[in-house]
Amino acid sequence: KKDYPMAVQRTFSIIKPDATKRNLTGKVNAMIEDAGLRIVGQRRVQLTEAQAKRFYEVHAESPFYGDLVKFMTSGPVVVQVLEGENAIARYRDVMGATNPAEADAGTIRAAFAESIDANTVHGSDAPETAAEEIAQFFSEEDIPG
Ligand code: ADP
Ligand code: MG
Repeated sequence: KKDYPMAVQRTFSIIKPDATKRNLTGKVNAMIEDAGLRIVGQRRVQLTEAQAKRFYEVHAESPFYGDLVKFMTSGPVVVQVLEGENAIARYRDVMGATNPAEADAGTIRAAFAESIDANTVHGSDAPETAAEEIAQFFSEEDIPG
């Protein structure tokens, strides 16, 4: 019987303004790499309001949408493409729960998040959203692998 390796996947990550403000990008990246994920694309950007609104469009009807857009444009972010086996679920595990009060010990949000909104990182939740989010910020030539 043949052994098939688990598929290598890519996911999209954002290191949010609360983390860039506190100079934590290196510490977050160390946790990403320690979890077996490779940072194959990375850029520091100041999101425009239009970019933030589009990125979080799925939450447009949520009561926190306005504050979320304001927060995401309050300072620079680091947009990233992460690669590894089962990268999407793996990164969600490393991130921890959206609300840092509920995040497991050893996760990025347990370590660094300030609140449910200023929660340090974003990670895609499914293959379709990962592809869509990566395409919003990267072209293939910017992701050498
Ligand atoms: P996740 O980032 O874990 O995928 P969601 O997709 O549910 O979480 O929400 C997107 C982002 O919106 C969260 O990371 C957080 O910054 C913000 N957010 C979510 N829920 C709330 C809330 N109840 N109050 C304020 N901000 C929130
Ligand atoms: Mg989400």
